[in-house]
Amino acid sequence: MCAVQAGFLGKRTLVLEKNDRVGAKILISGGGRCNYTNMYATDQQFISQNQHFCKSAFSQWTVDDTISFFETYGIQGKEKTLGQLFPLSDKAKDVVEVFTSLCADMDQEIWCNAEVKMVEKTDEGFTVRVEIDGRQEYVSAASVVIAAGGLPIPKMGATDFGLRTARNFDLKIIDTAPALVPLTITGKDQPWYEQLSGNSIFCRVWNDRISFEENILFTHWGLSGPAILQISSYWKPGEYINIDLLPNQNIAELIQQEKEVNGKKMLLAYLAGLYTRKFAEALSDKLPVEKNLASLTKTDIEDISALIHEFKVKPAGDKGYDKAEVMRGGVSTDELSSKTLEAKKVPGLFFGGECVDVTGWLGGYNFQWAWASGFVIAQNL
Ligand SMILES: Cc1cc2nc3c(=O)[nH]c(=O)nc-3n(C[C@H](O)[C@H](O)[C@H](O)COP(=O)(O)OP(=O)(O)OC[C@H]3O[C@@H](n4cnc5c(N)ncnc54)[C@H](O)[C@@H]3O)c2cc1C
Repeated sequence: MCAVQAGFLGKRTLVLEKNDRVGAKILISGGGRCNYTNMYATDQQFISQNQHFCKSAFSQWTVDDTISFFETYGIQGKEKTLGQLFPLSDKAKDVVEVFTSLCADMDQEIWCNAEVKMVEKTDEGFTVRVEIDGRQEYVSAASVVIAAGGLPIPKMGATDFGLRTARNFDLKIIDTAPALVPLTITGKDQPWYEQLSGNSIFCRVWNDRISFEENILFTHWGLSGPAILQISSYWKPGEYINIDLLPNQNIAELIQQEKEVNGKKMLLAYLAGLYTRKFAEALSDKLPVEKNLASLTKTDIEDISALIHEFKVKPAGDKGYDKAEVMRGGVSTDELSSKTLEAKKVPGLFFGGECVDVTGWLGGYNFQWAWASGFVIAQNL
């Protein structure tokens, strides 16, 4: 995006990509369909030490700018859910092709299989050391843009290059961690989750900082699904997560209503109707599922309410960078101008995208940040 926007302004750029093609993460994003923005994105869906930092970039490049940019180059969007926009074609490769063909049209050079090893300041600007097929090349540039992504999915070429370069220039890094990542359950509780593997439930998931209403998914090693990925970005090891398994309804009132018409119904059958048979059976070690509704005591109802509306989980950990969709933390926003994304201490050096300490929710927000930061940097090269 940065090279394309720079091209629109008549500025020449060279894109250096260590993989054999550009946009590998775009290609796998959104299950290969690329959720390229979110219609409702604001600065509120981003995590950063400085919550206000992303506002300037988002005012310079808005969601409407993303939508019309892609429409101009042949990608109509369709909303899947919660404002998430995907190409009508369902093909992430169409998104990559917009960038590669615009770069080609404007003679913005792209070198693939070109791994940047080092960026050094010189009197005139910068020297970039690149390794291509085992040989070293040196490229001089007036400005350098570090858009090297984050640590997730190392097998796709993710590196710590952005962080390393920032450190080399003595820029502060905010501690990094996997985010939008499934959470693991180990020990004596693990078999309980494993038996439910594949079951998905619409829930409200919350802690003292945030709350999300989306599905959770049980897996043989713990919990996944959009609501869990979302809260994982706000979770720290050792903390509990609360889950309301029946958001916006009251299980005690529902049972009372059902009891009046069908008191003989077993709690097991009632819960199987609300969820799945498997889930109702799994609750047998926690609730008196063999009782009929009429015989439930006040304490039984309180226990059911507590379990359904405030189910507590203490994950053992997360699935790490192999499964994370994004990295939390990164180059400290204190080091960058929010208006230009240029390093305050190093004129001509810019950082954009995931390597900066701006992390979006699940749902197209991270690409909106990537596009906005690319646009902003291009204006200031
Ligand atoms: C499975 C998955 C699904 C996702 N789905 C979505 C989604 O649907 N919507 C959404 O908004 N976000 C999604 N994301 C997040 C999104 O992909 C990233 O936030 C986004 O790609 C970040 O863009 P970037 O340009 O900063 O980094 P990247 O897209 O990671 O690009 C960085 C590039 O730099 C290259 N590179 C790294 N080091 C060097 C080096 N030393 N020399 C040369 N090249 C180097 C890498 O090979 C890479 O191609 C998903 C992420 C994953 C892992």
